Amino acid sequence: MPADQLLESRDVPLGGLRGLTVHRTLPQRAIPTIGAWCFVDHFGPTTESMAVLPHPHTGLQTVTWPIAGQIRHRDSLGSDVVLRPGELNLMTSGDGVAHSEFSVGDPEAPMHGIQLWVALPEATRTGPADFEHVTDLPQVEGPCWSGLVIVGSLAGRTSPARTHTPLVGAQLSVKAGRAEIPVDPSFEHGVLAVDQDVHVAGESVPHRQLQYLAPGRDSIVVESDVDTTVLLIGGEPFEEDIVMWWNFIGRSHEEIAAARVDWEDAAERFGRVEGHGDQVIPAPPMPEVRIKPRRRES
Ligand code: MN
Repeated sequence: MPADQLLESRDVPLGGLRGLTVHRTLPQRAIPTIGAWCFVDHFGPTTESMAVLPHPHTGLQTVTWPIAGQIRHRDSLGSDVVLRPGELNLMTSGDGVAHSEFSVGDPEAPMHGIQLWVALPEATRTGPADFEHVTDLPQVEGPCWSGLVIVGSLAGRTSPARTHTPLVGAQLSVKAGRAEIPVDPSFEHGVLAVDQDVHVAGESVPHRQLQYLAPGRDSIVVESDVDTTVLLIGGEPFEEDIVMWWNFIGRSHEEIAAARVDWEDAAERFGRVEGHGDQVIPAPPMPEVRIKPRRRES
């Protein structure tokens, strides 16, 4: 099992006119997953906008979590919803789905949020696609902290969003001082410093960085000089070796190559997102070398 460590973000431009730059803390070479969480992109606050044309996914769930600003989601299941702060969009790709995401509302208003992926386990990774827009997430609180349970369970409350492995995701508001969050000791966790520098389990975590915490603790202490927000993710260590490339998660190079061909051929598998004409994001060329599984360091 990896030891507690700081996972530093790298900046990734998503492209598009006035397009968003995201701060990516997962995956990392040493830590490809935290529970089944396999991708964490933090963006903003910024007046750049999100303009992500239709693109495919396979083998994962996308979690879109706005903190400020509004995002219109359209997908190949026919969903068309506007997502607001405090609400969750959870899209399950199963074997294949496509979606687009665009900022809406006042273009001068700041955008701030987090996009995450969850790897699907063998049992459901080639199953049907699904989309949930959840507006009534449970609230939790303790001394010096409160939060919204985005997925899974925390402090006795459970999100209605459908998960496929033991998992938690929560936005936590922490008061200046010391907050102690009760957690499942069988889970490994990550705490993202969303707003400010914080201390997590005694370690300094600069703004935008993610602190990895190994399993075996029944609470996580977050300390801050000011009132602040952190994102807590966690889950049972995900033991399946995954192959991650572009927007796809599979188990082999061949599966990824087949998904790429299906997208380029506009195959039935990914369906069609209405409202964008013929515009989609084309898949990049496959790498020259075989894509290797991401295996956690033991
Ligand atoms: Mn996507």
